[in-house]
Formats: sequence, C-alpha cells, structure tokens
Amino acid sequence: GPFGRLTVQGGESRAVNLLQNRNICPTEPVEPPKANLRDDLKKVNTSPDLFRCTLTTLPQNQNLLNKCKLPLGIVLHPFKDLSHLPVITSSVIVRCRSCRTYINPFVTFIDSRRWKCNLCYRVNDLPEEFMYNPLTKSYGEPHKRPEVQNSTIEFIAPSEYMLRPPQPAVYLFVLDVSHNAVEMGYLHSFCRVLLDELERLPGDARTSIGLLTFDKVLHFYNLAEGLSQPQMLIVSDTEDVFLPSPDNLLVNLQESKEGPALQVAHKLMTPTGGRVCVFQSCLPSLGPGALKPREDPNQRAGNAAQKFFSRGEKEKDVQHLGPATDFYKRMALECAGQQIAVDMFFMPGQYTDIATLSGVAKYSGGCTFYFPGFHPVRAPAQVTRFERDLRRYLTRKIGFEAVMRIRCTRGLSIHTFHGNFFVRSTDLLSLPNVNPDAGFAMQVSIEEALVDSSTACFQAALLYTSSKGERRIRVHTMALPVSSNITEIYAGADQQAVVGLLARMAVDRSIMSSIRDAREAVINACIDCLAQYRSSVAGQQLGALMAPWSLRLFPLYTLALLKHPAFRLGTSTRLDDRVNTMNQLKALPLAANIMALHPHMYAVHNLNDEGALTIRDQIIPQPPILSLSSERLSRDGAFLLDDGEGMYMFVGRSISVRFCTDVLGTESFAAIPDVMFELPELDNADSERVRSFVGWLREQRPFFPPLQIIREDSRQRMVFLQHLVEDRSESMFSYYEFLQHIQKEACK
Ligand SMILES: [Zn+2]
Repeated sequence: GPFGRLTVQGGESRAVNLLQNRNICPTEPVEPPKANLRDDLKKVNTSPDLFRCTLTTLPQNQNLLNKCKLPLGIVLHPFKDLSHLPVITSSVIVRCRSCRTYINPFVTFIDSRRWKCNLCYRVNDLPEEFMYNPLTKSYGEPHKRPEVQNSTIEFIAPSEYMLRPPQPAVYLFVLDVSHNAVEMGYLHSFCRVLLDELERLPGDARTSIGLLTFDKVLHFYNLAEGLSQPQMLIVSDTEDVFLPSPDNLLVNLQESKEGPALQVAHKLMTPTGGRVCVFQSCLPSLGPGALKPREDPNQRAGNAAQKFFSRGEKEKDVQHLGPATDFYKRMALECAGQQIAVDMFFMPGQYTDIATLSGVAKYSGGCTFYFPGFHPVRAPAQVTRFERDLRRYLTRKIGFEAVMRIRCTRGLSIHTFHGNFFVRSTDLLSLPNVNPDAGFAMQVSIEEALVDSSTACFQAALLYTSSKGERRIRVHTMALPVSSNITEIYAGADQQAVVGLLARMAVDRSIMSSIRDAREAVINACIDCLAQYRSSVAGQQLGALMAPWSLRLFPLYTLALLKHPAFRLGTSTRLDDRVNTMNQLKALPLAANIMALHPHMYAVHNLNDEGALTIRDQIIPQPPILSLSSERLSRDGAFLLDDGEGMYMFVGRSISVRFCTDVLGTESFAAIPDVMFELPELDNADSERVRSFVGWLREQRPFFPPLQIIREDSRQRMVFLQHLVEDRSESMFSYYEFLQHIQKEACK
C-alpha cells in the first residue's frame, strides 16, 4: 500500500508516497511535533507556541546533520501574550557559575545541595534560599521549586540586572502631514484611535508622550502645563536640526492629557530611550535620508517569460530589494544605542522604498506595518485594518531596554540570527523595545558531537524593563533528545519550522544574491532532503516519491513559498509589496508565517453544528480545512480563505438565493456589490453561523484581519485565486507537476 511502516523506537516514522497521496493536506490545523522525551520531561517542556526546533530529535554530530540535508535552527516567540506565567520574586536567581544558565526543569540534582548544569555540565551548589519553596511554604525540596517545575518563567530582577534606574515608558509619534498624507486622511483615524486608547497605553505615573509632525518643515508641539492650547514650534532648517525647547516636548501623560524628523526624534528621546512611531505616506524627498524612486514597473515580475526552472541562464532578476542608502540603518544603530526603537506605519499611495526605510525598524528592534493604497473611500478595508492594528499596537504590552541571549548545550552553536534587533555579541541581541508580536529565528550548527548526554537544551533569556518600571527576565528552556539514527532524525522533523527557517534564509539570499538563487536553494533543499531520505531510509521504489510522515507537507509548503509574493517570479508584484512580505517573513512568529504561506480555506455555504464548539453560549461551526485547489471550489458554494492578515470570501455564480439573502443581505448573486467588506448582521441561523465562525477565527490572533467578499465574476477574483497554490498558473507548476519534478530530480 501507499503507507510503508517502519518501526523505530518512539516518534512517528511512517513513510508516505506523495505521488499517490495528493490529498495530503490535513482538515485540521497541523500540530507541531512533540519532542520524543521521557513522559515527565515531555510534560514540562516549553510550549511549541513559544519555542520550536526544526529537528525535534537532534543529530548527534554535524556529519549526520549534513547527511539529512535539513536546516537546523530554532524559531521563537519569546514575548508572546500568555494566559499563565509563573512570576518569581526571589532575592537570589540561581544560575550556573560557569555558563550563566538559569536553573530549569532539565538540570540534574546530584543531591539536595548540588545541581548539574544541563548546558555545560558543571556541578553547582544550591544557595540556602533555594531550599525554601514559596509555593508549598516548605523547606528541603529544591526539585519542587517553580524554577524546576516550569520551562517558561519570569523573574523580577534584582538591582545587579540594571545599568541605570528602569526607564519610564516614553512614546513619541512622528506624523507625516505632507499634502499627500493630509489628502489620504489617515490623521483623522490616528487621532480618534489615540484618544480612545490614551488611557490604555502601557505605563505608570511616569509615562510621557510627544508629537512631532513634518512636511517640508518640522513641527514640534509644546504641551506644557499652564498653556491654554499646545504651542506649535516650527523648524525649517532640515540640514541642522535642533530642539527648540527640549522641555515640555515630551510631557508626562498624566499631567497634560523621516529623515530630519527621525533625527529630531532621536535627539528628543536620547535621555530616556523609548518608542518612536513614524507614520509615512510617501518617499522622503528632502534633507538627509532623501530617496529617489527606483522601482522599474516593467520588472515587477522579474522576467515574465522566465520558466519555473531555468538554471544557468542570465536573466534579469528583481532589482532593488536591498537599501539604497545606509542612512536609515545608521540611524537605527544610533537609536538602538540609546534604547530607542523605531516603528514604521507605511501608508503609501505609490512607491515608498520600504526596502530602505524599513531598515530603521529592522536594526532598532522595531516593527513595520503596511497599508498600501490607504483611502477612506477607495479602500475602506485598509482603514479598518489600520484602526484595529493601531489599537492593538497602542495597547499591547511592551518591554523597554531589552536584551535577549540564547544559550545552548555545549557542542551546539548559533551562527545566524533572523528578526528585528541589533546583534551586540555572538549570542546577545539588543532590543531597545520588545513587543509580544515579534518572532525570531536562529540557525544552529553542531561544533562538537553531542555525546555527553541523551538530551540537549536551548535556553532563551529576555531581560527587559516593564512598562511599570520593573526589571524582569523571561526565560524559556527547551529540551530535545539526541540521536545518531537518521530515521529518528527524519521522524522528528518539524516541517513548519523547517519551512519557516528556509523562508528566512531565502529572504537573506534574495537580498544578497537574487530571488532566482533563493528559489533554487529552496527547491534544492526539498529535493536533496527527499533524495537522501530515499537512499538512506525509504529505499528505492520505482515511480514513488517517498517522504517521512513528519515531512509530508514539505514539498507543498516549498511550492507555496515559491508562489508567495516575496519570491514569486512571472507574476507582477509591486516592489514595496514584495519587500513588505519579506520583512514579515523575517520578523513575525512562525504561526503567522505559515498562515501567510499556506492559508486555511473553508466552505461556508453549508455550515452546520456538527462538531461545533460552544463558547460563551455561542455555537461556533468547525468546517474542515480544504486543500488550496480550485478543485475544491464549486459554483454553488461560498468559500472563506484566511491568510492570517486578511480574509476573502469567494462566492460562486450559482450560489443559492437563500445564502445571498440570509448571509450576504443581497437579493441575488448579481446584486453583490463590487466592494463589500463586512457581513451584515442578519437575524437568522445561517448568518449567525457564518459570523460566529469569522469572529472566532479573528479572536485567534492579535491583529484584526478584514474580510473582503468577492463575486466569482469580479475583477477582484485573482486576489482570492492566487492563494490556491496547488493549481497551475501561467508561470508556475501545479502541486502534482511539482511533485513529479521533485521525484525526477530526487531519484536521479
Ligand atoms: Zn552551565
């Protein structure tokens, strides 16, 4: 049969013939693999939502890693919002004297007074204080302390963890008020949301806030107490910016209820550090940091005539993926040095050179948001998304003046980092701000064989100042088994983490070399891995493409990556759109990356209560996830596609009149408007089912995805259809053709 079974100790070690199992896509979200550890260790291991490894069984040495042809790396979401987090207030934080690892559930107690470090194997003494257990209020049971019962934990740090008194929360908003920006009308949305949420900005009595606006000149606002209204101060010399009145420009929140603009923001914030938030609507054209339009509209697709694989041919690739000037990177590094992070909200009507401008967020631990074509009338969904995203942005928690260090068991070594930060030393990341929606990844190599223990660990420690002025350390520790058996390594592979890491590597490669090179590297990773699996595990079966069960979606995800707006060629893609998706692949958590690559699609015209969830008295239908193929669509159906950032409902031309009237609130299919962004609240069971399902999906993530309703005969249909990655398109293979190609190459 198609499923050959191999027996390996532990782990899922089935092999599957992909060519015979084309409907490989699961109908429920893919569960991350659990490391094959002893049950007691498995129970305390860190959540895969926070910390994952591409290989949940680690190869014992680099040779074995090289042989299996999979990238070794970790992906983490270290500051994710948690519903449960043990917080420890302790006068002493127990750490290894040699490698500074925090005591954790995977250490060994030699006796009741000594513990052996699981990263460097040094034996350490336990301090007297550790004998007391604050949870059980008893003495003498160090292994029951919360530090060794939880792999994710937060410490309140004593004074030796600070270089200066904890900084207050400081927020500076830098607003583009050029003609362009005023016309597009984002200021109205911004002011309304800021006013709504002012009370909810994270902080305490020391929190301060400032405003700076710019067009051809810079405008400061003196918000000092005692003035009847804010005083506007104008600085027109953009070559030599100075602060007109350093006091009162940043004011205490409780008492008073680009290019050059960035330089001023930097000067203003230098004494405290904090968060600068820049709203930019067009290409900066004046003063230092001015940029020129560089996009060639004829090259948006790369070379349109290019075939899927055309090795060796010198064809034009997409240009200008990297920055035009290092002005913004230098600016970011200066900011990072002063504990200032810069976040960018891009609302471009036309090319804005995000490749250059986003550098300021990239190297300062900031983040970027992108609302192309923002317009209250022409693009109401962008306005909704802007307002919801801004709300989340303003009210989510924040850490200031942070550093993150990743330690790993002796023999392992981290060599490349991905995310928004500044690398201070080989394993220390400087994060002027840390936000709960940021993701990171690191590539790992094995420098010394892992022979000292049957498990190895990674520990991430994030030291930051909370918005309440507390120095805190959040620690995550992940344990993984080590094996010398290649079958076990394959059985433990985490296909989503593998693709997430490959995507980040491909972004770097696109910028350093070319998109063509990056695409080839991704395809080769897939081919080489399956070729190796065939020769060392599955054996040679004529006409089969065998994959380990753990990697059954690897080729599908690889194809999705090649069709993603970041890496696609042959389909017109605006340069800023492309660069924005690359930035997101680098800086978002893995779960968001996977949703963007391989969205979830559901039929919603026939929702029922079978298998539904009931949450707060509301019934939430649970339709199966469909594979991303037009074969799954039907003329009489409605299909919802969710890519994490947006939702699209595709309505077939033979949809029932009942669905139109009861769910969409229109008389017929033909009456569905061209621009429709929300479902009406209609008082019937079908409408309630669809709305409760959409609402439930939205609750799963921090940012609000807008919904767009698309008629089958609408010009907008490509917005939906381009996500169907299993289909053949003009310039790219279908999933089946891709499998055949992989099979041909892997079985050479
Ligand atoms: Zn140690």
